[in-house]
Amino acid sequence: MAFDSLSEKLQNVFKNLRSKGRLTEDDVKAALREVKMALLEADVNFRVVKQFTKSVQERAIGQDVMNGLNPGQMVIKIVNEEMTKLMGSETTEIDFKPSNELTIIMMVGLQGAGKTTTTAKIAGKLKSKGKKVLLAACDVYRPAAIEQLKINGEKQGVEVFAMGNKNKPADIAKAAVNHAISNGNNVLIIDTAGRLHIDEEMMDELVEIKNSVDVHRTLLVVDSMTGQDAVNVAGTFDEKVGVDGVILTKLDGDTRGGAALSIRAVTGKPILFVGMGEKLSDLEQFYPDRMTSRILGMGDVLTMIEKAQETIDENKAKELERKMKQNEFDFEMYLESMSQMRKMGGLSSILGMLPGLGMGSKLPDFDSDEAEKNMARIEAIIYSMTPEERRNPKVMNPSRKNRIAKGAGVNISEVNKLIKQFEQMKKMMKQMPGMFGGGKRGKKGL
Ligand code: GDP
Repeated sequence: MAFDSLSEKLQNVFKNLRSKGRLTEDDVKAALREVKMALLEADVNFRVVKQFTKSVQERAIGQDVMNGLNPGQMVIKIVNEEMTKLMGSETTEIDFKPSNELTIIMMVGLQGAGKTTTTAKIAGKLKSKGKKVLLAACDVYRPAAIEQLKINGEKQGVEVFAMGNKNKPADIAKAAVNHAISNGNNVLIIDTAGRLHIDEEMMDELVEIKNSVDVHRTLLVVDSMTGQDAVNVAGTFDEKVGVDGVILTKLDGDTRGGAALSIRAVTGKPILFVGMGEKLSDLEQFYPDRMTSRILGMGDVLTMIEKAQETIDENKAKELERKMKQNEFDFEMYLESMSQMRKMGGLSSILGMLPGLGMGSKLPDFDSDEAEKNMARIEAIIYSMTPEERRNPKVMNPSRKNRIAKGAGVNISEVNKLIKQFEQMKKMMKQMPGMFGGGKRGKKGL
């Protein structure tokens, strides 16, 4: 799972911090040394790590924190804010020309990064937002790239413009623009060719496409599993071709997360989307605050809700979101979110978003079967609660908990653990309203 190993390390550091009533300067420094090690091991750029720990330390050793009631929590809050800042703070979206004009988006990246797949994924997202999308198959080198785009385009219900592999990519792009205009499309996404490594010819070809058609935005697709290489690739593409934004693919398999945490800080380019799997629906808008929340093991319930909204019962999902925002999340809603999740399938991808079940938690190897069983146990526990207990967990005294444990066929410690995790999550939401949609959330176009 994404960020698993980093997440686990950070959570251990935080556990130590939380367990201390008062913090000395040395405690904070020692904790930050561990944070630094964890980030370096996650392959985060060393300059970024240095700056990050310096900023956290300066803020954390300030009087307010050290004298506060809960210094451990404050330090975690600072780490949270600084990490979000590192990834860009605001969410960046693709901006478009007015809908009666054609917006041309060019996709670039190395071969195997996931460009063709991502092109189709984005097409689906834009189509669902009402855009009339055309895809242009300009990857004339990789065997099967054109066919792959056609198949995926069809799955997404989006037309693909192709001219085989005998023409120059810039000529195909020009023909695609003409086709798009006569066809009434308002977005054209050009899938270009990558090479295994950066080479001049590839760059020249991309520049030629850019010179031939009026490319509005150039999006770079990089494989997050390649860590700092992805960051370097981004720097080179930007220098040679010019890049407006980045899409990080394969984050689902990236347990370290170094690229996600460094790319914005090093290149200044925003991450727009992250790829979370091979399926065409596995593309998520990138929210720096939510990503931090996942890395720090606080779950990402908002993304989960949005996935639910896209997939199933809109009214229920809206209600869930409203309750979350007003901090009224209760066990009824927890149960509801689990049942929606089931319907969505792709359990392991969604589980990572739930606090307590997510990244870095102690689920052994994040085995889906194991996770499924875990969920079934949690469901059994919640089903054994009375409606009153679900809505107001505070009423659950030891004898009620005992009854619930018996009813669910679990040990009482599991009931306690679930309630505790739930309370922690609610507390977290209260302390950081911005993270869960209650506060200001900036969004801006490219
Ligand atoms: P291209 O050469 O850049 O066009 O790469 P492709 O689109 O063909 O993707 C290369 C491989 O990566 C394919 O097997 C894709 O299914 C896979 N892939 C792409 N994006 C993701 C992702 O976000 N997660 C995972 N797990 N696999 C991905």
